[in-house]
Amino acid sequence: MAIDRFGRNINYLRISLTDRCNLRCVYCMPEDMTFRPRAELLQDDEVIRLVGLFAELGFHKFRLTGGEPTVRANVVDLVRRMAATPGVDKIAMTTNGLLLDRLAGPLAEAGLRRVNISIDTLDPDRFKKLTRWGKVEEVWAGIRAAEAAGLEIKLNAVIVRNYNDREDLVDLARLTLHQPWQVRFIEMMPFGDVADFQLAGVVGEDELRATIATHLGPLRPVNNGQLDGEASLYQLEGAPGTIGFISSVTHPFCASCNRARLTADGRLRLCLLREKEVDLLTPLRDGANDEAMQAIITDGIWWKPWGHGLAEDVIPLNRVMSEIGG
Ligand code: SAM
Ligand code: SF4
Repeated sequence: MAIDRFGRNINYLRISLTDRCNLRCVYCMPEDMTFRPRAELLQDDEVIRLVGLFAELGFHKFRLTGGEPTVRANVVDLVRRMAATPGVDKIAMTTNGLLLDRLAGPLAEAGLRRVNISIDTLDPDRFKKLTRWGKVEEVWAGIRAAEAAGLEIKLNAVIVRNYNDREDLVDLARLTLHQPWQVRFIEMMPFGDVADFQLAGVVGEDELRATIATHLGPLRPVNNGQLDGEASLYQLEGAPGTIGFISSVTHPFCASCNRARLTADGRLRLCLLREKEVDLLTPLRDGANDEAMQAIITDGIWWKPWGHGLAEDVIPLNRVMSEIGG
């Protein structure tokens, strides 16, 4: 079991499979982003070895992310190998959905159970503006393929002031009136070179809820306000779907945080909004045995931070979001 000094049981690992992406969302990375040389990234066998070590430490839930995880070569094979690792219970993925049209079926067959698909607007022009070149119809093809493959689906949207904070927000929330999906709105967080843009454009949960309620009617809390993972859930009157808010900026959920992150270059990132990381790649490549690797991991987890420092202007600068994975 991996426990931190605040008594939190950390058992959920989010693994960034690559820092590369087939989009350049304005709130995530600069347009001229440079990516790491592939040799600096965890190789397939290294990912699988680390998954086995984390699973032995009690981690049972794993989420694959990026950059864009579906652009990683061998992603289907990696999922299959992870699913066959003792202790691995649930494998999920966060994706922009562009490649799901052809990958959803093989990924589901390999052992993937859930996908969170990012879609920030239903409007083709504004989708292009937010992603710099994406086509929203390709995301829809991915959503349909994921449904056909039997994957459990959640939709994620980051809301950015003056981009998608009005009709796009309402149109996305309206989807829950017709579909049994969870549509989740994520408060934009500040990182690295993109921080000024992000801080200027963040829209807080209270404002998001008020805008939705004005246009679509009251939002009723689901689960007595208990968090579903990191999301607080609500429902519109008569809706089969639910609306979630992931509000790391205005309503941090540190007390219930059970996650750690593995970056594509093999660093254990202990909190999304803190720079603290532990290098796992170097000892792995230097031949550390399983016991030594697990001691490095559990020691790192012990020092997992509590709370972000945004109110004191402490912004994580060492990576942008695409290098951590969300
Ligand atoms: N490429 C995949 C995708 O877009 O779903 C996975 C990686 S992406 C970094 C993971 C999630 O982080 C996405 O839902 C994305 O919208 C969100 N995200 C990106 N930049 C963000 C930011 N600055 N603040 C909050 N969420 C962000
Ligand atoms: Fe790529 Fe996802 Fe970042 Fe958009 S949010 S640039 S799709 S990693």
